[in-house]
Amino acid sequence: MVDLLPDALQRWQAVESAAQEHFRCAGFAEIRTPMLEATDLFCRGIGEATDVVGKEMYSFNDRGDRSCTLRPEGTASVVRAALQHGLLSQGQQRLWYCGPMFRYERPQAGRQRQFHQIGVEWLGAESARSDVEVIALAWDLLAQLGVGGLALELNSLGSTEDRQAYRQALVSWLEQRADALDDDSRQRLSSNPLRILDSKNKQTQDLLEQAPTLADALSTESRSRFEAVQSGLASLGIPFQLNPRLVRGLDYYGHTAFEITSDQLGAQATVCGGGRYNGLIAELGGAMTPAVGWALGMERLMLVLEAAAAADPEGAAARLALVPAAQAYVVNRGDKAELVAMALARSLRSKGLKVELDGSGAAFGKQFRRADRSGAGWALVLGDEEAERGEVRVKPLHEQGEEQSCSIQDLSGLIALISS
Ligand code: ATP
Ligand code: MG
Repeated sequence: MVDLLPDALQRWQAVESAAQEHFRCAGFAEIRTPMLEATDLFCRGIGEATDVVGKEMYSFNDRGDRSCTLRPEGTASVVRAALQHGLLSQGQQRLWYCGPMFRYERPQAGRQRQFHQIGVEWLGAESARSDVEVIALAWDLLAQLGVGGLALELNSLGSTEDRQAYRQALVSWLEQRADALDDDSRQRLSSNPLRILDSKNKQTQDLLEQAPTLADALSTESRSRFEAVQSGLASLGIPFQLNPRLVRGLDYYGHTAFEITSDQLGAQATVCGGGRYNGLIAELGGAMTPAVGWALGMERLMLVLEAAAAADPEGAAARLALVPAAQAYVVNRGDKAELVAMALARSLRSKGLKVELDGSGAAFGKQFRRADRSGAGWALVLGDEEAERGEVRVKPLHEQGEEQSCSIQDLSGLIALISS
C-alpha cells in the first residue's frame, strides 16, 4: 500500500476534477459507499471461483464476529446501495464513484494492494447503444486527459446459453490438452474455465491460439447485438480491435466486454475494464435488471500520464501536473506588521487569491529571497511603518515595474493590481 505525496497528488486532483466534470456533463451522478462490506456481498457479487474472491480479499471478523471485507472493487457495493435505498424503483441510475480498493496481490509496477478506481455503473440500461455510450465515456475522458497510445479491445461473451455451450466446447477441447496447461489453468478447468482465456501464462496463451472461440458460439441474436455495438463505436469514430479471448470471468457478465490498454504500461497494460452484467442485480436480490459499467485504475492512468507528459512537455498531460505559484508572497516583519499581514493574507485568500505568508519574522533580505524562490508574481511588503500608515508596498518579483504603495483598506484596488 502506498502513500500519495503532495507532488504526485497534483496530477491526481486534476484527473479527479476532470472526471467529475466529465460525468456531470454526461448526466452521471456520484455515489459513495463504505469501504467495508459484509464478505458475503463479494462472494455473491464477484463469484467464489474468481481470483479476487478466492485469494485476493482482505477479510476479517469484526468484534461482533461478522465477516467483513475491504472492498476489492466497486460494482457490488454500488448495486447493494442502489437496492438497499430503492434507487432502481425511481428508474435507470447513471452512477459513478471513485476511491480506494484493496486486493492482496503481488505488488509491482501498476499493481498495488491498495489502489484506486474511478468507475461508472449504468443500472437499468439495456440497449447496445448504452454499451457504446459508457465505452465512449471512458474513451473520451482518457483522450481529454491527454493519454495517447490507447487501444480499445472488444469482445462479446454472449448470452448465458451461449456461454454454457461455449464452456462445454472449451472444456472438452482443453481437457484433451490438459498436460500443456499451467497449474492455475488446470484447476480452473472445473471451477471457472472461461477465466483460462485470461491466463497470463505464455504457454497457455500459445495453446489457446488454436482453441474454439466465443465468437463461434454466439447465437444469431447475440451476434447482431454485438454488431450493433461495433457499428455504434464506428459511428462515433472510436477505433477498436476484436479480442475473442477477452473475458470478465464472472457468471453475471455477458454480451459486451471491453478493455482499454496502453502501449506505455508493459505487463500491467489494462487501464480500464468493463462490460455488461445483466445478472448481477438479480443475484444480489433485486429484480432482473440489465446494467453496464467499467472501472479505471488510477495508478495505471498516472503512469500513462507521466509518460505522456514526458513525451510532450507542452501537452495536456503535462499541464495537469502544473502547480500554479502563489499570486502574492507577503513579506512582513515587526509586531504590528505581522498582525496586519496575517489579516491581509486572510482577506485576499477569502477573495480566492493564492497567497503565501512568510511566518518566519526573519530579516527582510531573507524573506525577499524566499519570495523570489516561491515563484509568486508579487511581493506584498509590510513593516511596522507601513502597517502604521495602513499601507502595503507592492513589488513585482519577475516583471519589470515600479514598486507601488497601496492602501490596505482598498482591497479591490490591491487585487486589481496583483491580478494584472
Ligand atoms: P488485472 O488483469 O490487471 O489484474 P483485473 O481484471 O483484476 O485487472 P478489474 O477488476 O477489471 O481488473 O479492475 C479494473 C482496473 O483496475 C484494471 O484495469 C486496472 O487498471 C485496475 N486495477 C486492478 N487491480 C489493480 C491493482 N492491484 N493495482 C492497481 N490497479 C489495479
Ligand atoms: Mg486482477
